[in-house]
Amino acid sequence: MPQTVAFGRAAVGGTAFVVVAGPCSIESRTQLLEVAREVRAAGATALRGGVFKMRTDPKDFQGLGQEALPLVDAARQATGLPFVVEVTSPEQIGILADHVDMLQVGSRNMHNTTLLNELGRIRKPILLKRGLAARLREWLLAAEYIVRGGNQDVVLCERGIRTFGDETRNTLDLAGAVWARQQSRLPVLVDPSHGTGRRELIAPMCMAAAAAGLDGVMVEVHHDPDHAMSDGFQSLRPNELADIIAALRPVLRGVGRDVGGPAVVSRDVSTAPQMTELG
Ligand code: PEP
Ligand code: MN
Repeated sequence: MPQTVAFGRAAVGGTAFVVVAGPCSIESRTQLLEVAREVRAAGATALRGGVFKMRTDPKDFQGLGQEALPLVDAARQATGLPFVVEVTSPEQIGILADHVDMLQVGSRNMHNTTLLNELGRIRKPILLKRGLAARLREWLLAAEYIVRGGNQDVVLCERGIRTFGDETRNTLDLAGAVWARQQSRLPVLVDPSHGTGRRELIAPMCMAAAAAGLDGVMVEVHHDPDHAMSDGFQSLRPNELADIIAALRPVLRGVGRDVGGPAVVSRDVSTAPQMTELG
């Protein structure tokens, strides 16, 4: 079994299979609170939502930035769910840390050793996505940068790699995710939203991740995907998330697990926001 990483009132790496769900980007208070309530009602473990977005096209929506932080606070308050937010530069660590339960390193930053070193110096769980062209060993070495700095609470996330096909946005490397879990003591999540870029492939890839013994999934959810400001084409509608969670339960029972929610976590690591300890 991998180590257990507590975040908010949830934990990843134990018997619970975590479902982290929410919009690609936080767009407005109404959008985030509506999606957050639906994600909670569907039985998910934790929320996600982009604040500082790393978009391929500079003309595309870049995220609300700091304006999104009161909305993150409100969603945590309204649902009691932990919140995962991507950090894209070292100076954002201090800005984000007191508002979120886990900091995500995005695919484009997996090789950013300056950022990884800084994340090694804080006490806040880190979700480390695999670079879109990273070898598995490079992914584990990126995690080692954080761990060597003193922060042991690292969770890996396979989000698909670039291959030659264009029928899917990326190629979700499930075997690689299982390899990473076998070769390290770190829990491993799978992101089939970015991993496939196709809404209809998300449910089967969630089932496969559960059956393969991985520790959870991260999926994008939007209440109105046709009008989402980013990644609407791959975003689930809330009812689709609820259907996936319902379908996951028998698969997870088969491998001795269940979907983790704050209610099923035995170790309550306090509702108080964790403070950053820099230095
Ligand atoms: C995301 O999760 O919002 C994201 C941008 O993912 P990735 O870094 O895997 O592209
Ligand atoms: Mn996205």
